[in-house]
Amino acid sequence: MNIINKSITRFTLIALFLANCSVIPEQTGLPSSSANEGSITAFTHVNLVPMTAEIVLENQTVLIEGSRIIAIGPSDEISIPPDAAIIDGEGAYLMPGLADMHMHTNQDWDTDAWPVSPLALYLANGVTTIRDFGPSGKDLTYVLEWRDQIKAGTRIGPTIYATGKILFASPLSDPRGLVRENHQLGFDFLKLYSYLSPEDAREALATAKELEMYSAGHVPYAIGLENILAAGMDEIAHVEELLFAFIEYDRKQQLAPDAWLSYLINSAMGQFDLASGFNEAEFAHLHAETMQHILKELRTYGTPICTTMVVDDVIQHKLFELDAFLARPEIGFIPTAYLDLLRLGEEKHQLQFSGIEDLAVYKYGIDRWLLTELHQAGVPLLLGTDSGIMAVVPGFSIHDELRILVENGFSPYEAISAGTVNAAEVIEAMVGDGNFGTIEVGQRADLILVKNNPLEDVANIKDIRGVMAAGRWYPEEELDLMMALEQEIGDDLLD
Ligand SMILES: [Zn+2]
Repeated sequence: MNIINKSITRFTLIALFLANCSVIPEQTGLPSSSANEGSITAFTHVNLVPMTAEIVLENQTVLIEGSRIIAIGPSDEISIPPDAAIIDGEGAYLMPGLADMHMHTNQDWDTDAWPVSPLALYLANGVTTIRDFGPSGKDLTYVLEWRDQIKAGTRIGPTIYATGKILFASPLSDPRGLVRENHQLGFDFLKLYSYLSPEDAREALATAKELEMYSAGHVPYAIGLENILAAGMDEIAHVEELLFAFIEYDRKQQLAPDAWLSYLINSAMGQFDLASGFNEAEFAHLHAETMQHILKELRTYGTPICTTMVVDDVIQHKLFELDAFLARPEIGFIPTAYLDLLRLGEEKHQLQFSGIEDLAVYKYGIDRWLLTELHQAGVPLLLGTDSGIMAVVPGFSIHDELRILVENGFSPYEAISAGTVNAAEVIEAMVGDGNFGTIEVGQRADLILVKNNPLEDVANIKDIRGVMAAGRWYPEEELDLMMALEQEIGDDLLD
């Protein structure tokens, strides 16, 4: 791409994604069709992957009006209104957009700290729903503004759901007041973190219940799984949260955050045979009773769990093959300040596992085993990546997460379900807005048009012909444009 094109591209995308993002594509001359009320789009001759069952329906037409799906049927039976915009999907596969159910936004997405706003990266990777597990910025309500602007069509991005101020560590001066404040500001759910006392957690969850506010989070160290579920926490934020049930430690103490972490790491080091490495059969045998207890608890409450396995994957890369990791194309989308920390060896995980790299490997072994057990037991799992922080790249990470699920025994259909059907069920329970995740009449038009069958190989979802988010269509050319710019800036950064 020459300099002039590059500057136009840069200008256009900066206008789209950075400049307060009140600019909509029509004003910038980009070719995306809007999701205007009344405008009709027809996908014709597609292989439909509706995700209502493990099926592919050939030669289908899907009609979209505004942001909703209004008709689906065989292409020779569905009549297309004369003024409809037609997207010929001959030979391609139309599937629901994906949800990243655990990620983190940052107010600096609206600055030039990021080469391009991650909101664009999500769309370009087929992620049409994101759930923010902890925004970061001076005033956390920025994420509510983004959420509402995207809903109103004045900002480009995936549909957002968000928590507000995390209930992080005890003592909390006013746990009930904090929950009420989050609720009043309009945040979609409450997040609890590891360092809460039983008293604070119970107060907070009781208040959330009174307000009918959904809750999710870590399993606080001083409380444990059984008690936090009994206290009413609706969802667990990571598979890895269950790991602590396999470490023997004294729960009846209230430590400062840093003290908890070193105490638990020391306890784990004393109990796990790190030198011999993780032996799944042996570990499973030794801890069979604890595992059965965990599954019984989760079944009792029907608790869903976010996967976020890619974090372990990224940790291994940071610790053992940093150069190869930094050479990945998508790493160019990470803020330079973070890349500098990685190069200096001063990044969070590099510091955390410095000198105890064996523990990171062992931990990944336990997490994979946990994932397999939860999957086999039918615990509802939600596709989540913790993207936006820790060098987990927004959008791209969803494909790594899908790959890891399949590597650990999920069929492609099951892996995709975690980011579609399962995600929608949880959003429905959370805010009554779970009308996505399948291709059916009445659903929000969140769709990905891919070249090859995603049910044969989840890697096929990377090969995208276009993405529709709440009825707004982003054809391949436009997604390429976003990616081309990001690639160039990425190359500049890597120079
Ligand atoms: Zn997180």
